[in-house]
Amino acid sequence: MSKTHTITLIQGDGIGPEVTGATRKIIDATGVKINWEICEAGAQVFKKGLSTGVPQETVDSITRNKIALKGPLETPVGHGEKSANVTLRKMFETYGNIRPIREFPGVATPFSGRDVDLVIVRENVEDLYAGIEHMQTPNVAQCLKLISRSGCEKIIRLAFEFARSEGRKMVHCATKANIMKATEGLMKRTFEEVAKEYTDIQAQHIIVDNCAHQLVKMPELFDVIVTTNMNGDILSDLGSALIGGLGFAPGANVGDHFSIFEAVHGSAPKYAGQNKINPTAVLLSGVMMLRHIGEFEAAETIEQALVVTLGIDKVYTRDVMGDAGSVSTTTFTDKIIANFGRKHPEWQERAYQPINMPQLTNSQKSISVKTRSVNGIDLFIEAHNDLDGMGRKLTNLAGSANLKLKMISNRGVQVYPNDHGTEPDLTDCFRCRFVSKDGADVNDSDIMKLVSLVNPDYRWMHIEKLNVFDGVAGYSKAHGED
Ligand code: NAP
Repeated sequence: MSKTHTITLIQGDGIGPEVTGATRKIIDATGVKINWEICEAGAQVFKKGLSTGVPQETVDSITRNKIALKGPLETPVGHGEKSANVTLRKMFETYGNIRPIREFPGVATPFSGRDVDLVIVRENVEDLYAGIEHMQTPNVAQCLKLISRSGCEKIIRLAFEFARSEGRKMVHCATKANIMKATEGLMKRTFEEVAKEYTDIQAQHIIVDNCAHQLVKMPELFDVIVTTNMNGDILSDLGSALIGGLGFAPGANVGDHFSIFEAVHGSAPKYAGQNKINPTAVLLSGVMMLRHIGEFEAAETIEQALVVTLGIDKVYTRDVMGDAGSVSTTTFTDKIIANFGRKHPEWQERAYQPINMPQLTNSQKSISVKTRSVNGIDLFIEAHNDLDGMGRKLTNLAGSANLKLKMISNRGVQVYPNDHGTEPDLTDCFRCRFVSKDGADVNDSDIMKLVSLVNPDYRWMHIEKLNVFDGVAGYSKAHGED
């Protein structure tokens, strides 16, 4: 007797119930025994007034079952509550988002015949997705991009381990380290160090904008791409378009203890309830889930039946061929089930092995430094006019706090002293860089004194210390700063 698996099923918003319904029907038709625990999250939960969008019963169900299949959840755009998707990924520390992009026979795209077969491994819990945002002034908004050394170490090791598990030969790391040298640079530097341990796999860094360009120009170049959260979000939607669109792009959120399987796409509200959308992306997420729980035969049955449906029977949903000649979501679903047992002669299954999930050593989790000092501070203040007057005033105040004003920048470019004679547009949020007068370590009492001196004249928002670790400056210069 085969085992019964208990799995949390979140049907999702918009097209969610249709795509998860189709997936459940197809998986159940294989005979695999699954006890689906149906749980809520997303729009319906927000409407009931729960601001996390994830009720405790859903949290408890995933905690018990360790595995969930999830439909897309709607997130209010530009206002309102935080994303319930991101909340779930973070709550269960599913730090890796694995997103395969593989060409399907019979799905015609400008890239057909190029053997597109790549996987994006997206860091899933850090970066701008932490959503730590503040209005600095009535006119200037800020989002903190926090990237940890251990977060980079884990996702990069996961990418290499994943490549090994599928017999893949090349890992690219896509970052914007040329511009964000501390944050995206940390990902690049960690990649270069970790890559030395995986001598069986080729490793190459690529700047993320060029990665987008090369993905469109030569997608067959890529095998595995590991990248930060925001980059990965954008690249994976682009990647889905190489193989026919978001209807074909599955995904798995994985961590040490929990896995949540979901498509790349969202709730596509304009198609909700119309029985038109393509369930393939969630179905293939379900196939990834079946392999994860060891149900390899059922996974292969579904994958082959899907490829036969697309590649031999030429049965498609609206996204592939428009309204004329396409079938409904339910007909497509039934057709896949009817094709159980058939195989596509050209579809090779990959050699799937369980991923050896990385376990970090203490020194990989947290690095320590031998020396550290503080060179100064950046004090962010709100100001409106008379830049020269502000510069003179802050220079005088700094002297009384054992500091000196080095420069003032606005939107990252030095505007005082105006050494270059340029006239950038100014917002009301200024970064004032104060450094030690005599090169000594800047202490907290000097900082507090400076803030108390500045405060009567200017509103201040926040302070950043200019840290130096093991002799290396841990902060960036302003544009135009020497
Ligand atoms: P979306 O829901 O992914 O839809 C964008 C477009 O992709 C659709 O208009 C449609 O393209 C195509 N599409 C998506 N799923 C499809 C499917 N199964 N079959 C065929 N075509 C499909 O993105 P969005 O409209 O930007 O976002 C809608 C909501 O979803 C937002 O609230 C967003 O926050 C949320 N979202 C959730 C997740 C998640 O749950 N993980 C991910 C992304 C977005 P055409 O218009 O060309 O037909």
